[in-house]
Amino acid sequence: SEFCVSRSPPLSSSGSSGGGGGPVILELPVDKIRRPLMRTRTNDPVKVQELMDSISEIGLQVPIDVLEVDGDYYGFSGCHRYEAHQCLGLPTIRCKIRRGTKETLRHHLR
Ligand code: ADP
Repeated sequence: SEFCVSRSPPLSSSGSSGGGGGPVILELPVDKIRRPLMRTRTNDPVKVQELMDSISEIGLQVPIDVLEVDGDYYGFSGCHRYEAHQCLGLPTIRCKIRRGTKETLRHHLR
């Protein structure tokens, strides 16, 4: 991958996160994350502003959850953190990525 990868937890070589199946923490370009439900939800602008202030000061403390299907990234939650990054003009956002299938994706879109 062209992005810098760090596994969580680091240095684990056994168990569910050691074999490549567990979630991975990764900085992704904000514009590479598809948000299929974005137009159906409205964020609280006060929360977004508060997150912008906090993220500028201390950075994103909790990565957003992202689903990877066939090399494409989908976000369904973390909406306020995502918008705060967009508004701040930050190029990347820290993501907790798990893999899914097209079927997983369909479940999210139902
Ligand atoms: P979202 O739609 O992004 O989940 P919420 O307002 O529901 O927005 O939750 C904000 C989340 O952002 C909380 O889980 C909080 O722990 C997390 N977070 C991560 N980084 C920060 C930060 N720097 N300041 C405040 N909250 C943060």
